[in-house]
Amino acid sequence: MTPSSQTKNLLKVHQVIDPEIEPNAGWGDLPIGGVIPQGGTARQFATGDWRTIRPVWSKEKCINCHRCWLYCPDISWISQDGKIQGVDLTFCKGCGICANVCPAKVHAIEMHPEDDFKSNEAAKEE
Ligand code: SF4
Ligand code: SF4
Repeated sequence: MTPSSQTKNLLKVHQVIDPEIEPNAGWGDLPIGGVIPQGGTARQFATGDWRTIRPVWSKEKCINCHRCWLYCPDISWISQDGKIQGVDLTFCKGCGICANVCPAKVHAIEMHPEDDFKSNEAAKEE
C-alpha cells in the first residue's frame, strides 16, 4: 500500500531524528503513538499539504496593515521593510484567518479551493 502524504511527512520527520528508518519505510516503522522525541521538528513537517483552500493575495489592494502577518498561526506571511511580500504556502493549512482579519473594505485576500491550482501545478511538474 502506498503511504499517505501524512505518513510520508511523519516518516520524513522521523528519518531526520533516526537515520535507521529506511527511505522506503511505511507507517509500521513510525514510533508507537507517533511520539516526537525531540523539539524543533515542526519545520520539517510541511503542514501545507493539509490545505484544501488557499489564500490568494492581491498586492494592489493590500494596505500593509500586517493583520494577516500578525494573526497567521503558521507565520506564513512574508514582510520586508514594512511591506507584505506574499505568503509562503509551505506551512499554510488554509485556516482562512488571514482572509478574515484582512480589513473588509480592503479585501486583499481571497480563499480559493486547492483544486483550482492543481492542474496548473501538475503541468509545471511534468
Ligand atoms: S490560511 Fe491560515 S495558515 Fe494560511 S496564511 Fe492564512 S492565516 Fe496563515
Ligand atoms: S491583512 Fe490584508 S491589507 Fe493587511 S497586510 Fe494583510 S493582505 Fe494586506
